[in-house]
Amino acid sequence: MTKIAPRNLSLILALGALLAACAAPTSTAPVVEASRLAERPATADPGWLLKGTVVTMNANNEVLTGARLWIRDGVIGAVIKAGEALPPGAENAKPLDTGGMIYPGLIDIHNHPEYAMYPLLPLKRKYLDRYEWRYYDDDYDKRITKMQSFITGAKYLNLYPEVGRYGELKALVAGTTSLQGMRKDQPYAAEGCLVRNTETASVGAAKVTSQLDMPRDTAEWAALKKAVQGGPTVMHVGEGNGFRMAREYESLKLSEANVGKLAVIHGVGLGAPEFDEMAKQHNSLVWSPLSNFMLYGSTAKVEMARSKMVAVSLAPDWGPSGSKSLLAELKVADLVNRNQFTAKISDLELVAMVTRQPAAALGWGEKLGQIAPGFLADLVVMDGRNADPYRNLIDAIEENVRLVTIDGVALYGDAAIMKSLRTPDAIEDAGLFGTRRAKAIAINCPALPKTTLPELRKVLQQALSTDAVYALTRVDAAQLAADAKSCSVTLSNPATAEEMKKVVKCKFSLPFEATTLSPLVTSDDPDFFPRLLAIPGVPAYMKDLPNYWKH
Ligand SMILES: [Zn+2]
Repeated sequence: MTKIAPRNLSLILALGALLAACAAPTSTAPVVEASRLAERPATADPGWLLKGTVVTMNANNEVLTGARLWIRDGVIGAVIKAGEALPPGAENAKPLDTGGMIYPGLIDIHNHPEYAMYPLLPLKRKYLDRYEWRYYDDDYDKRITKMQSFITGAKYLNLYPEVGRYGELKALVAGTTSLQGMRKDQPYAAEGCLVRNTETASVGAAKVTSQLDMPRDTAEWAALKKAVQGGPTVMHVGEGNGFRMAREYESLKLSEANVGKLAVIHGVGLGAPEFDEMAKQHNSLVWSPLSNFMLYGSTAKVEMARSKMVAVSLAPDWGPSGSKSLLAELKVADLVNRNQFTAKISDLELVAMVTRQPAAALGWGEKLGQIAPGFLADLVVMDGRNADPYRNLIDAIEENVRLVTIDGVALYGDAAIMKSLRTPDAIEDAGLFGTRRAKAIAINCPALPKTTLPELRKVLQQALSTDAVYALTRVDAAQLAADAKSCSVTLSNPATAEEMKKVVKCKFSLPFEATTLSPLVTSDDPDFFPRLLAIPGVPAYMKDLPNYWKH
């Protein structure tokens, strides 16, 4: 008797989905009914009509040339195909012909945006797992752990608002509209402020939980189990090689902390037994190849995970060991796919890994990750440089981003487009790409400091340079006095820069080395590729990575 095991059944279903995914993107299946609006109170604002090639990423993978999106009250009110009449109410909407390709906003399901200011770590060796570099590497301790304490510590520079804003801007200028990994208690993580943060967003039925580390005691295990069983949970598991990494997933299984919508970040050390169990529990995998190679010299067995029907999302991890953005990480995944994988991932599937796959993993599949009526108007418009819309996105660089909207509000894009959508007082020159292409940004967060972008860059560079004069303007006086005493430094009144330097050296072991603020975009960073390609764990074929930026 042949019985279809659940896993085989899911295999069959997934194969069906795969075949559907391989269908020609110009399918003539019905796209949308143009009348369904989301359950939001309608306002008198007629909204606007965004025209271009709409890459829906819907179940039929429809690509609609010359289509228009009616954006109203933060949602996509209608998708109007070329030649179709406008739905009632859309006649007075403001038209904008982008001339580009319109995608769902990119969803970054794994990041640590509060570290976006750091340049790539100049790594000289490979590590076994994440614990080795985080806890047993003196250079990492000074470069990142102590530096971060100095910069963000409430009694020292207290710059979390600036640090977080920089991380969100880095994502935004590369077309990311949703971002994981922020501290929930900071103003930039609030809903409606800059990019959508997975931990605070009210998109899915349940809140998303981000879990950094494995639980350490009974209470933490209970909390994790409750989180995973209560809603989507994104968590580092098996980051590295060696038997201990696979055991991390085994621990989750034994504690039933894998029974639910668990998104496993990294999973480098996982193999067939773990992927079988992940498929059974409908867990997903978050793949961050560049970070994996830099730190461990290998990456997750993505082909194996996919063969076992584990859904995979792509994400860039973070600034110190990863791409600057999800858009940039797409090129890394493309190179890994071409050079290392035998069963190639299609271009469409790669794009799904940054749109509908992470949306599904977060429980947001009914609201984000696709372009459809009623979905939130988180969009990115790219130059149309390649007729194939999926290859177009994979090959696109930050400069090709024409427009980014979140909740239907234009936050970043070509200066001319932004000027047509926002008032002059709302926008600021983004200061990117030299004189090649003018981009403008519109910050939508009154809770953040009103610093301009040049001021923000200056402050962060001063912080990374452990500038003692600047530090004196920020440090808590009582804390400085206490630390000076414990460091046997006698303070003048007022304290001098030299005294401040001595305290910083004693308390934080800084400065360790000259640190340059990581530019927001890859092409503005002359150090990125030389530093990356000198790292032992990075595969030789990554020498082709800079070529994506040569156009
Ligand atoms: Zn991480």
